[in-house]
Amino acid sequence: FKYGCASITTVNFTPGLAGIATMEQLRFDGRVAVVTGAGGGLGKAYALLLASRGAKVVVNDLGGGRDGSGKSTFADAVVQEIKSKGGEAVADYNSVVDGEKIIKTAIDNFGRIDIIINNAGILRDKSFTKMSEQDWDLIQAVHLKGAFKTTHAAWEIFRKQKYGRVIMTSSNAGLFGNFGQANYSAAKMGLVGLANTLAIEGAKYNIKVNTIVPTAASRLTEDILPPEMFQAMKPDLIAPVVAYMAHESFPDNGSVIDSTLGFANKTHLVRSQGAVLKKKPADLVTIESVKEAWPQVVNMNNATHKEKLAEVTVELVEKLQEFEERSKLDSAN
Ligand code: NAD
Repeated sequence: FKYGCASITTVNFTPGLAGIATMEQLRFDGRVAVVTGAGGGLGKAYALLLASRGAKVVVNDLGGGRDGSGKSTFADAVVQEIKSKGGEAVADYNSVVDGEKIIKTAIDNFGRIDIIINNAGILRDKSFTKMSEQDWDLIQAVHLKGAFKTTHAAWEIFRKQKYGRVIMTSSNAGLFGNFGQANYSAAKMGLVGLANTLAIEGAKYNIKVNTIVPTAASRLTEDILPPEMFQAMKPDLIAPVVAYMAHESFPDNGSVIDSTLGFANKTHLVRSQGAVLKKKPADLVTIESVKEAWPQVVNMNNATHKEKLAEVTVELVEKLQEFEERSKLDSAN
């Protein structure tokens, strides 16, 4: 086999159901994956799992501190571990800000690129008053621009080969906000926006772009998570979710998947039914009529999710028709 699945036979010992069951093992043979920030934490777990299932892996890591300072070659240890288990991997020490160099490492060493896991990340947490422009810029550069540069460098290759799997890494700090993380929250929500549009642009080329929202023990969370939680929240529990999202059989495109502690769920935006901002056709929209309608504007009972911008546009056209009908009534009165 080249890509996809290998059949493995397992014996099922469930009482009453004893027998032979055939289970498909999801494999990545022939695929080349770039995992950014794979020298430690979550990225290391992703790289080890993909390599154990046959992928050739570029283990990218700048090797700096958790605030982005300095650099080193600690990606080497991950490459050694993969090789010692019979896998194939190469280290890359470029910053994701030079993402094209990371893709070049994949092409130079393995001749192709199929999967990108944009995982590299740093923190510069400060309350907004104390946040400098440098704290802002560095976070946007590593998280958002880094994902842009790395993905952009492979995009044309993905289009030509009609295959690509891209994972963005967001955070609940982005989806919900978190004190002291204005720079990080903005970048992490920016990645969801980037994934939303790339999922649309890539769809007809079989390029799927999805987002993982992990919560795991790593050097980024060692002083945030309580010790008992830190022990339990192993990156290994999230790696299978991300590996499935990177597999050719993964069905979704544009999904945001939250995962921790062997659990996964999907997050998406919903919109309220909304309200017309005046009572009678002849009324004007005023600040006061907006205030009056407000409880209905923000009432989330019967909220709906829009799968596509086109659905929002259809709704806009319907609103325009309603608006014109109301205006006709206004002038008739
Ligand atoms: P980590 O610090 O162990 O891993 C991040 C890795 O990225 C580090 O090895 C670091 O050297 C590398 N890196 C930093 N800047 C880089 C650059 N410019 N170029 C290349 N590599 C660079 O932390 P982690 O928790 O494993 O984080 C992985 C990702 O998951 C990050 O994007 C992080 O924001 C995100 N995340 C983590 C959690 C969590 O609970 N751990 C929660 C939400 C989001």
